[in-house]
Amino acid sequence: MFVYEKDILINDIDLWLDPKRVRDFGFISHAHGDHIARHKNIICTHPTGYFLKKRLKNPNFIALSYNQFFKIKNTVITLHPAGHILGSAQIQIKSKDTSLVYTGDFRIRPAKTVEPFEFVKSDILIMESTFGLPHYKIPPREQTEDELIDLCRSLLKHGKVPVVLAYSLGKGQEALKILSEAGLPVVVEYNILRYVSIYEKYGVKFGEFEKLKRSEFRGKVLLMPVQDRFKSYLKNLPGAYTIYLSGWGIDPSAAQRFGVDKVLPLSDHADFDELIELVEKTKPEIIYATHGFDQFVNILRNAGFNAYNLEEAGGRK
Ligand SMILES: [Zn+2]
Repeated sequence: MFVYEKDILINDIDLWLDPKRVRDFGFISHAHGDHIARHKNIICTHPTGYFLKKRLKNPNFIALSYNQFFKIKNTVITLHPAGHILGSAQIQIKSKDTSLVYTGDFRIRPAKTVEPFEFVKSDILIMESTFGLPHYKIPPREQTEDELIDLCRSLLKHGKVPVVLAYSLGKGQEALKILSEAGLPVVVEYNILRYVSIYEKYGVKFGEFEKLKRSEFRGKVLLMPVQDRFKSYLKNLPGAYTIYLSGWGIDPSAAQRFGVDKVLPLSDHADFDELIELVEKTKPEIIYATHGFDQFVNILRNAGFNAYNLEEAGGRK
């Protein structure tokens, strides 16, 4: 049903899945920078379409609702919530002989800013497997949220400036919801702020917050894109304490690796248990794992699954 040639191609209908290179026809699972390109024709969800309009010049897309049927030749396509960021989608492709699900980035645990994940059964599963080692067990979201709120409160009390670092799209709005609903005084950098109205359009509510102005840091929590952490004005900010929100916070060396004071394990990817939960609940005949550790495929094989590394196997016709 598909071939893998650096990107995934559904060959019956010439549809590429999250291709990195510009293609004639591409499915974009979600609007993170490493998944988008200005393909001639794009399939995506409505929220992803709104994000693409902000990120690409005149994108040409067909927006589908979740579970809406879209027929191409003898094939039916449907999109299903992936739980990663607002609008993120898995795609199911069904022909008369077989079916395939490609997850894109996904998370099963519910979050406050994302449509709940949906389990979709298929013969072939192509799954993201970022945290595919058993020690990547992400703590319950509520626990990390409380830790973030308590840490910010304590830093403010001691005259420090908490700087919360998150990806501009997805984690940034999740952090804004957590911090603003806790009643913390939050100032938000423009690259996170620019997507907030799209979240609000889809019913996500936020508490009070302000737009970041560089002169007014004292007594406030700064919410900034993670790539800003090396900027000189932040490095020279007296009393700044940087907190990065990432699933990699499970690794003890994460703070040092990312060059921050603290990494809290708030993740928008499935952890190891969720990866296993997906394959156990959907029971695909063949699994292709991608974006992960090589050992994950062996773990799946030992558990009785017919699993391959996508990049090595190269897909089957
Ligand atoms: Zn992503």
